Amino acid sequence: MIEENYSVVWDLDSFFVGGSSSTALRKHLDEVKNKLLAFEEELKDFNTPSSIQDVNKIVHTIEKLKDIAVNLSEAGAVIGCFQAQDTTDKQAALLEGEVGMLYAKLSSSMLTIQQMLGQTEESVWQDLLQTNELSSFAFVLNEWRNEAKLMLSEKEEDMITTLSVDGYHAWGQLYDLLVGDIRIKLTLDGVEKELSVGQANNLSSHEDAAIRKESFNALETAWTEKEDFFAKTLNHIAGFRLAVYEKRGWESVLQEPLQINRMKQETLDAMWGAISKNKAPFVEYLQRKSDMLGEKRMHWYDLDAPVSASTEKMDFQQGAAFILKHFKEFGPKLAAFSRNAFEKGWIEAEDRPNKRPGGFCTGMPVSEESRIFMTYSGSMSNVSTLAHELGHAFHSYALRPVHWMNRQYAMGVAETASTFAEMIVADAAVKEAKTEEEKIALLEDKIQRSVAFFMNIHARYLFETRFYEERKKGMVSATRLNELMVTAQKEAYGDALETTHPHFWASKLHFYITDVPFYNFPYTFGYLFSLSIYAKAITEGSSFEEKYIALLQDTAVMTVEDLAMKHLGEDITKEAFWIKGINLCIQDVNEFIQFTNVKG
Ligand SMILES: [Zn+2]
Repeated sequence: MIEENYSVVWDLDSFFVGGSSSTALRKHLDEVKNKLLAFEEELKDFNTPSSIQDVNKIVHTIEKLKDIAVNLSEAGAVIGCFQAQDTTDKQAALLEGEVGMLYAKLSSSMLTIQQMLGQTEESVWQDLLQTNELSSFAFVLNEWRNEAKLMLSEKEEDMITTLSVDGYHAWGQLYDLLVGDIRIKLTLDGVEKELSVGQANNLSSHEDAAIRKESFNALETAWTEKEDFFAKTLNHIAGFRLAVYEKRGWESVLQEPLQINRMKQETLDAMWGAISKNKAPFVEYLQRKSDMLGEKRMHWYDLDAPVSASTEKMDFQQGAAFILKHFKEFGPKLAAFSRNAFEKGWIEAEDRPNKRPGGFCTGMPVSEESRIFMTYSGSMSNVSTLAHELGHAFHSYALRPVHWMNRQYAMGVAETASTFAEMIVADAAVKEAKTEEEKIALLEDKIQRSVAFFMNIHARYLFETRFYEERKKGMVSATRLNELMVTAQKEAYGDALETTHPHFWASKLHFYITDVPFYNFPYTFGYLFSLSIYAKAITEGSSFEEKYIALLQDTAVMTVEDLAMKHLGEDITKEAFWIKGINLCIQDVNEFIQFTNVKG
């Protein structure tokens, strides 16, 4: 194979020359700001549409909104890249604050438009949606209108938003403060150390069992010491949310998260139902893993323990070649797109100081390009991450011909293209593993994902739904929260656990996020939804790609049920659909059991 020499440093000058102090970027931001102010003025004359004659006014407003939104996103995305590549870039941090304020202004303008459209008389509304100009936006416009109808009056909603700053979001911020204050005292290699919660959490995958256990116990002690603070914080976040729901007349705590994810309750129930009925293989895997670790049953602190030393390394050029080779087997467009991303410097992969940890993909809607950020050190998991982010970028690329209004996809489908791309590479890596040790390590890496989505996330979902029900009746004590969590973990892990993590509710930031409620089930949905598409791609070969692209283009213009029916011919409100994806994961477990058996 002829190896290319792709750059490991991304090109940001193509957007704005000169980094965070770029004069072109300054000019761009000033222009966006002026447009936004002018738009706010203009909206003062935007009234509820009264006849079909108002169609041009609505189209004009949408186009203005789009123009501001894409230009703001373009700047926001590039500024995000500046910050990620150098966390000491103070100018970038200032610009980020500025962009955040502009975003807040934009969303308040959007809310005004939404409220106006919500009040349109039904017959006028139907006439408007049938016009050539608006028919393609019908789904999103109906969604805006329905959301507005489910809310209280503009004045009341405005009051809630205002009070949320100090009464809801502030509890979420208090959580961050409480966690940030915790120090974990541990003795590592004979040296006494004080670790942050994040650092102590990283020890959960340490190869030394004693260190895993000690850090877990130290963390549980820390959570216990402050449990009343966390219980109070969680109770007030939930209490605020429930009070707002009650005022709006919303009965189920799942109404809002389902609405955000454009999903039916039946779909969610079918997904968890299918998962619950298929836990046995994953319980078997956990048992095998604890055998390999020399334990009788699985301890919580051993869940992330490494069972096999993976030694295989690929440098960046080899990783790129590996990805391109396997993408090609699935579709020429995904492969060509990714080759272009490597060639044009869309990827920041260099291992150097002051970079932010983790990886992401961000889209620049004006230039119609994306940028991928990560730190590549040569492990197979780095190769997977790179493929994952290329998948996100391909989703944006597929959406290029689609109007901005129809590109705003939800969290559940956001991980479709990324998981799909990651699966291609993860599967290929297992097949091409050179040693048995390597194969076991790669298989385990795949199974760990299934355990996370089918067991860990399931426990979070069970806990959260039950906690919210109890919270409706009053405050829930720390002791009771522990009980609820232990019960949820035992159930979600199919009784495979010897020890649980009672204070998980205190340790997991996701329960304290106030921007999005129920930050759990969309992960599992995205994973399994993507797996079922992947299963179809395997059977249909590279001719599947056009269908795949058509599906991606529809990710923000219909419910997830309609999306699956239209593009996969599948009814996702039925368990049978979900079982197909789960079966792919069970195959990994079977292989793992077989390989680790031979080893004795
Ligand atoms: Zn992702």
